[in-house]
Amino acid sequence: MSGASSLSDVGVLVPAGGRGERAGPGGPKQLRPIGGAPMLLRAVRPFAQHPRVRQIVIALPPEVIGHPPDWLRELEGDRLRLVAGGETRQASVACALAALHTDCRIVLVHDAARPFVTNAEIDPVIDAAEKGNAALVAIPVSDTLKRTDDGLTVAATVSREGLWCAQTPQGFPRELFEKALEQEADTALTDDAALVEAVGGTVVLVHGRSANIKVTTPEDFRLAEALVNT
Ligand code: C5P
Repeated sequence: MSGASSLSDVGVLVPAGGRGERAGPGGPKQLRPIGGAPMLLRAVRPFAQHPRVRQIVIALPPEVIGHPPDWLRELEGDRLRLVAGGETRQASVACALAALHTDCRIVLVHDAARPFVTNAEIDPVIDAAEKGNAALVAIPVSDTLKRTDDGLTVAATVSREGLWCAQTPQGFPRELFEKALEQEADTALTDDAALVEAVGGTVVLVHGRSANIKVTTPEDFRLAEALVNT
């Protein structure tokens, strides 16, 4: 459990509205199983079991929202809502935020494509948001970085100093997040902390784990299966 407070004032937005085309054929990747459980269920479960979480809103592809899988329909209720997502990830986050209960003063965003999130990430992100900052889980870049102009040959080796890979969850005081989303409505950013950066807000880094992988390609699914079995 996070901090000393026992409030249930955290809302979790789960953008799951993508088509997952890089994952190959087989329907939306977020509904596919990893180790026998749908990826989306794995991504949502730690939040559903967290005592601070008041409500979870999942943004689904419009074609799925009318016919959600049985396991998801059975979970639907006041604590877990399903909404239709938008054209971009950012639009899906905005759709989910619009449906979030007004009691939720802290907003977390977590990608449906990260099924291995734990309280080790969730708790410090909530703590930072409670202090009035935006926060995101991230890990320092460990590989040597190369830049290429043609995709065939190396143009330069780029310093990795000070570079981190952003993950989710990311967390925000609701008022700050709503303001940032509104002001940056016309941009299409790939994560939510970037919205707060764009309006000049402070974003705190929370040291993450490399196991909190994002599952995108068929190879990632194989790696995810292996992680479940270790
Ligand atoms: O495509 P990518 O893996 O970067 O998407 C990150 C997350 O955003 C995924 O969980 C995906 O389902 C979600 N997304 C969304 N609405 C879109 C596009 C992506 O909710 N229109």
